[in-house]
Amino acid sequence: MIKRDNTLRGLSFFVQDYNVLIEKINEAIDKKKSCFIATPTTEIIGVSFKDNDYLNILAKADILLPDSVTLVQIGILLGKKIIHRLTGVDIVFKLGKSENRRYKVFFIGAKEEVLHKAVKISAELLPAFEIVGSHNGYFFKTEEDKVIEDINNSGAEVLLVGLGFPKQEHFIFDNLDKLTVPVKITVGGSFDVISGTLKRAPDWMQNLGLEWLYRLIQEPSRWHRMILIPWYLLQLFFYEITH
Ligand code: UDP
Repeated sequence: MIKRDNTLRGLSFFVQDYNVLIEKINEAIDKKKSCFIATPTTEIIGVSFKDNDYLNILAKADILLPDSVTLVQIGILLGKKIIHRLTGVDIVFKLGKSENRRYKVFFIGAKEEVLHKAVKISAELLPAFEIVGSHNGYFFKTEEDKVIEDINNSGAEVLLVGLGFPKQEHFIFDNLDKLTVPVKITVGGSFDVISGTLKRAPDWMQNLGLEWLYRLIQEPSRWHRMILIPWYLLQLFFYEITH
């Protein structure tokens, strides 16, 4: 029996709009309350079927955004309340263009040159951000404590983590007790988008659910990952009708 709720794979997704999400982010900053926001895609949910630790990390996030069209399509097909896609990159742009307040932000992730460009362009593109620090996404586990110290010393209110999955979720979860920055958001390839290294699909393609195709054209090496998506969807579908 399928439950008509906001869950998929047993995980509760956030189903309100960006305005409510921004209110929650602002509240976490004002109250200095930890808020871990993860942005699962169909691939992420697919991986959670073979990696129980990863599933547990997702379950511990405070907010899960359904960051994939196919995930939302499955939600609609099953009559779930998950009917709108909410993405990491969109929340970055919405916060960065906010007219109501400024945010102290730390960027972590991407290659050094991409990150450098993203930080530089943000001054113009995302005027509500005060970038208080940044670190590329290619560091050794032994350097992690130093990176965390830098993040904490920066006084950031929002940490954007673009390390790709599952590294970004592990980075936040494993360091939840050490990180003093209230809001932590996984943002995948957002720094590539901000820097202009990757282009986002035009709206019409996004609306048709074809953003994956646009991404594949820009990064053909992703084909071996994308080819697994139908299998992940099938697994998810069977999970839902049997739980
Ligand atoms: N990345 C990183 N460190 C790593 C692996 C990846 O910083 O060890 C970055 C990579 O440079 C890119 C982003 O993570 O900016 C990957 O984004 P993508 O959208 O591919 O995320 P995924 O779909 O893998 O979560």
